[in-house]
Amino acid sequence: MRILFIGPHPDDCEIAAAGTVARFVAEGHEVWFHILGKAFENSIPKPSENLYQEAEKAAKTLGICNLHIDDFPFLKYPDHAFEIRESLERTAAVFNPQMVFLPTEHDLHQDHVTCSLEAQRAFRSNEELIAYNTVSSRHGFNPNLFINIEKYMGVKDEVLQMYETQAGKPYFMNRDWVHMAAYWAHKSNYSLRTPVEAFEILRKFM
Ligand SMILES: [Zn+2]
Repeated sequence: MRILFIGPHPDDCEIAAAGTVARFVAEGHEVWFHILGKAFENSIPKPSENLYQEAEKAAKTLGICNLHIDDFPFLKYPDHAFEIRESLERTAAVFNPQMVFLPTEHDLHQDHVTCSLEAQRAFRSNEELIAYNTVSSRHGFNPNLFINIEKYMGVKDEVLQMYETQAGKPYFMNRDWVHMAAYWAHKSNYSLRTPVEAFEILRKFM
């Protein structure tokens, strides 16, 4: 199966879904990443040329087939909504994914919201759209798909440790993804004690 993950910035897809990506690759699916920007010009920590290399290294470790990174300016995605949609439509034409993962639109970060809405527009004809949550997601994300990543938690941890430029952020220091995986396990199945990643099916056609 051809599976596309769309991310606003490097690390968003990995925090939400690195375990699922690793599992899909191990199961023989072809996985592509389309990331909308590679720079954190205005963010803390300071901008780093290394971020692009970190994303490439993470993608290679996860075994994805294609990593495409645009250069839309950080925090200004709403001003570039139409170009973002055009870029996503180019990937749609080339890859023709059967399953598309995108960030939930219920998010405080303007780049994430624009990414979600333009992805929904660009892939309006695709049969399966699935949303993931990010560190800035808010109420409104209602997961109804839970993927067991027991065998892939190790590689998720390894991949996120590669983002040294982000290491000072609280959710990196605390390795929030480990706690989230336990939280979603509990929410999806009261007796489950294996790590889980959570998603919301926006559309599925059979
Ligand atoms: Zn982001």
